[in-house]
Amino acid sequence: MLDSVRVRLTLWYTLVLAFVLVCLAVLTYFLYRHDAAQRTDSDITQLCDAFLTTFNAELADETGPGAVKNAAQEAMLEHRFRNTYFVLLDGSGNVLLSSMSMPKARNSNQMLTADFFSSEAFQSFRAAASGSGKLHTVHLGRDGFRGLVRPISAGGRAYTFVVLQSLHSQKEMMQDIRDTFLWAIPVALLLASLGGYFLARKSLAPITAMAAQARSMGAANLNSRLAIANERDELGQLAQTFNQLLERLERSFEQQRRFMADASHELRTPVAILRGEAEVTLSKPERSPDEYRQTLSILREESQRLAHLIEDLFTLARADAGQYPLTLRDAYLDEIASGALLRARSLALAKNITLVPAIESDLPIRADEALLERMLLNLLDNAIKYSPPGSTVTLHCRRDAGRYVLTVADNGPGIPVELQPRIFERFFRADKARSRSEGETGGAGLGLSIARWIVEAHHGQLTLTRSDTAGSTFTAAFPA
Ligand code: ADP
Repeated sequence: MLDSVRVRLTLWYTLVLAFVLVCLAVLTYFLYRHDAAQRTDSDITQLCDAFLTTFNAELADETGPGAVKNAAQEAMLEHRFRNTYFVLLDGSGNVLLSSMSMPKARNSNQMLTADFFSSEAFQSFRAAASGSGKLHTVHLGRDGFRGLVRPISAGGRAYTFVVLQSLHSQKEMMQDIRDTFLWAIPVALLLASLGGYFLARKSLAPITAMAAQARSMGAANLNSRLAIANERDELGQLAQTFNQLLERLERSFEQQRRFMADASHELRTPVAILRGEAEVTLSKPERSPDEYRQTLSILREESQRLAHLIEDLFTLARADAGQYPLTLRDAYLDEIASGALLRARSLALAKNITLVPAIESDLPIRADEALLERMLLNLLDNAIKYSPPGSTVTLHCRRDAGRYVLTVADNGPGIPVELQPRIFERFFRADKARSRSEGETGGAGLGLSIARWIVEAHHGQLTLTRSDTAGSTFTAAFPA
């Protein structure tokens, strides 16, 4: 159950709320109790003062031996209040007079008896209260009493007045407050936790929906996207991020699918030629040595083309997976360029094309020599392949503003403007029929993709910088 975020959120919320409510209740209770005690004390003091004023006034009118008792009785009658009791004691502490409604010490519903006044609790209260002149508590009975002691003298004798107030109603009120908190806090917590749970469920509902939607997605339906309720809130941003991830996945899945389809299509042709040639040759029991030689030379050409294609596919597959190991060494770009020209010489000779080197010397570079040569050979191969016999192909290699710039320029027919943006795509050929008819050199449309990958692996850029009816120029630029 605790594995659910909803439940955990609700629990945390309820715990925090419980803590706050309990603290608040305890604080309120003690503040209230303090306030009630102060109010009681101030009531008793006022009552005592009022009582003594009345008593003194009555005493002025009285004469004779019972004057003090009479005056006290008059004052007691005048200041009768519920739960408040007046007592007049003589000099030796004996009760001369107590107000009528005084309850018993042990049971506040009955009249107080002499036991109360002779009890130790009352005696110690009297001693403390007359000494300090302040209010003190008599710890007797269920709730106790709060009281004040005032010594007076009348007719040359000492008396003591005691005012007592039962703490029953104060205790009862505090008990009521405690009881209220005891049921109100659990009810508030229950309501709040129910509300919290529903709120958490409502807020987390989009995540549950997203999880269900994501669970139903697979390679077959990568095009579906999560619904976004509010793209500005956190959940909306999560869904957007997830959708972006899906988009990237879909794109790369699509790329892989296309690559696989194109690759199998390209592989099918040479394999069909190999099989066809073999079948035709074997269809007759006897063939002349020339016929066998011709068939074998076709088989060799096609298997060479196939090997070349497989190697290109393998290079790209490893490059895609980031697994092609670059062997970086300190080398000279001018030497790499001269090496590539040398290797392209036989191709150029076969078409009577002149290769023109324009190579600056002393261009140190840290690079994978074999890959850079392969890139140059791809560009030179294309330039020779698509140029008319008798024309020239120039290879420039120079340093320019902190970069190395390599250009391969030919006098070929150029690439139609509308196709130029696509020539670096895999398996793209501007003229498929012609490419195939180029014989051994007819490519599968992978040469430029591989060349671009090689340049980018060396932190450079390969672009078609010019292509019109007068020829094409490809430029590779690297940081020097
Ligand atoms: P391919 O193996 O077919 O040469 P590339 O990837 O090397 O594949 O080239 C892609 C396409 O770009 C070619 O089919 C061709 O149409 C065009 N192309 C490349 N280089 C040249 C060039 N120097 N002159 C004209 N067209 C070119």
